[in-house]
Amino acid sequence: MATVAVPKFHKNFINGEWVEARSGRSFENRNPADHSELIGIFPSSTEDDVNDAVDAAKAAYAKWRLVPAPKRAEILYRAAETLVKRKEDLARDMTMEMGKPLSETRGDVQEAIDMTYYMAGEGRRLFGQTVPSELPNKFAMSVRDPLGVVGMITPWNFPMAIPSWKIMPALICGNTVVIKPAEDTPLSTYNLVQILTEAGLPVGVVNVIYGMGPDAGAPLVAHDDVMAVSFTGSTDTGRLVNQACASSFKPCHLEMGGKNIILVMDDANLDLAVEGAVWGGFGTSGQRCTAASRVAVHKKVYREFLNRFAQRVRALKIGDGLDPETEIGPLVNETQLQTVMKYVEIGKNEGTRLVVGGHRAESGRLATGWFHEPTIFADVNPKMRIAQEEIFGPVVALLPFDSFNEALEIANHVNYGLSASIYTRDVNLAYRAMRDLETGIVYVNAPTIGAEIQLPFGGTKSTGNGHREAGTAAIDFYSEWKTLYIDYSDRLQRAQMDTTEHS
Ligand code: ADP
Repeated sequence: MATVAVPKFHKNFINGEWVEARSGRSFENRNPADHSELIGIFPSSTEDDVNDAVDAAKAAYAKWRLVPAPKRAEILYRAAETLVKRKEDLARDMTMEMGKPLSETRGDVQEAIDMTYYMAGEGRRLFGQTVPSELPNKFAMSVRDPLGVVGMITPWNFPMAIPSWKIMPALICGNTVVIKPAEDTPLSTYNLVQILTEAGLPVGVVNVIYGMGPDAGAPLVAHDDVMAVSFTGSTDTGRLVNQACASSFKPCHLEMGGKNIILVMDDANLDLAVEGAVWGGFGTSGQRCTAASRVAVHKKVYREFLNRFAQRVRALKIGDGLDPETEIGPLVNETQLQTVMKYVEIGKNEGTRLVVGGHRAESGRLATGWFHEPTIFADVNPKMRIAQEEIFGPVVALLPFDSFNEALEIANHVNYGLSASIYTRDVNLAYRAMRDLETGIVYVNAPTIGAEIQLPFGGTKSTGNGHREAGTAAIDFYSEWKTLYIDYSDRLQRAQMDTTEHS
């Protein structure tokens, strides 16, 4: 299926120019479905490159912050239109560098399109508050100020959607950007930034630094002129980012791991629940922070659910994401494959029942890719490691329960709190679940994945740090309130004190 003939040599994007890393070092971007295929060679950046990029973003900020937001929005509209036109090519590039099937990478690009249009619309809103003053002849309101240079660190599982979730709201608020994309998916960020540039984004407003996390990401987070950081990735790295931001009180948005659950009640539409568990558990080969890696099923329907679920999962077609028949693509890299294989061993040693899968998939053409069979463990105890730790692969733990309260206890008894779902036709249970599930996102009669860009996205506990991505919540992170009082009384008026005098 390989379509990339000539590897491309890429450069960092600093101050409107494509430039080599100062170190002259580079890294390879390879196709996870066939690792003999080289997609491109990207610069391995270090602190020097980060400094150049931040300087460029800081200089550009002086002008960009003064561009009226509706004018900033015009650039975003143009970019969105180009994204629409090039959607198919962008999706193909993404499948080749990341592995997920074309239907999913089209969805990823669509999310970037949706976010870009949405934030362009915000250019004519960016609502603040206008409120009555307690004093006569005085006007009171709040407006949103940009923060300055924002540093962004992104993961590989949504190579265009996640950069767009960060870049678009940051830009519409008047910030400038330095982004370091994941080392496994640099091409999709290149494509996105290239489109923004073609749409007329001024020089230095968005800068891209490629490279490894500790070499290129860490100096970006720590840079004194980076006024805020947005990070999506693992909880361990998120903790480092948080610590690096703490000493200078730098606002820091963290979007980290998940251990999401689908609850299937005994009155659920079982066919619907099975389809939801297949999509939620094995979409993107389980490499979503919202993946349903746990499915808890009421004992009354447990056996029936397990049979139908196992039958569906055994039939899933593993292969290259460019093949339209493929349902399960490869894992993104060898390390991720090894993590999955390690957790399969852990699951077996914990005494659970391996029902489907459990091995690397390496027959025929799969041998040159990082494929793993979709895997189901049944009769899992909620305390076991495979029910507690994020695996980020095609492994689902099935847990039986007796009552709604027990299901809630299982659902909430993890360190993460991103997404949860319940399948039931009982409206009372649905509302109790919405109230009592301790996650940032709850679905009813739908799997744990499928967030839309116009509402807040994020989670509780070790998933996040209280901020949210997407919707107007993103505007809240990428802007700072400025409160304005205009006194037109021509005399000294003292708030809270001059309350009885009126003129
Ligand atoms: P994953 O294990 O899913 O790749 P990571 O948290 O390691 O998740 O990576 C997410 C992003 O964080 C990537 O862009 C990676 O390069 C970056 N990263 C990794 N380590 C650091 C670090 N110490 N400081 C800043 N960014 C980092």
